[in-house]
Amino acid sequence: MTTQSASIVEDSIVAAGQPWTRRLRPGQLLRIVDLEGRQAVDFLCYRADDPAERYNAADTMKYAKTIFLTAGHGIYSDMGRRMFTIVEDTCGRHDTIGGCCSAESNELRYGVKDTPSCRQNFLRALAPFGLGRKDVVANINWFMNVPVDADGAMGITDGLSKAGDYIVLRAEMDVLAVISNCPQTRNPCNGFNPTPIRVVVSE
Ligand SMILES: [Zn+2]
Repeated sequence: MTTQSASIVEDSIVAAGQPWTRRLRPGQLLRIVDLEGRQAVDFLCYRADDPAERYNAADTMKYAKTIFLTAGHGIYSDMGRRMFTIVEDTCGRHDTIGGCCSAESNELRYGVKDTPSCRQNFLRALAPFGLGRKDVVANINWFMNVPVDADGAMGITDGLSKAGDYIVLRAEMDVLAVISNCPQTRNPCNGFNPTPIRVVVSE
């Protein structure tokens, strides 16, 4: 593994359903490990010193020429700047179009009120940085499987990640990374059983 000889800055377990945030410097590596498999990890990022510049899903897909990001692809801001590079990916299937779950969408789709959600996690994680609901944009879902059929039909289906699958992202600017370890229990994105993930930052 490319990060084996690197020095570890942080090595954390993010409990099922919980958020995680960290500011990274250029060159630092962020490894996200799906410890038990089939766990969606919702992800947003912002330029640390000017968070009005943030991840842009549409431009990232256009530059990658695919909706399925993997090793070698960049994660781009709305200003055309590369925020992260995906340097390793043992899973090979992640989602760029499904967005994050919210209590409101869960109520609409599943008829249940006041569920824990990724949007609530994002809001908790962003609040200390002065960011709020207007700043929660379309996000990446690591390890979430949203296939699109030839006729355009799409949907959240069983994840393809196995226990221990991981991605490694290299920061390309001073960047604020925000994770929601998805608490969803009403569709297959977490195998109907949210589980912990491991987050390792090294340099
Ligand atoms: Zn979620």
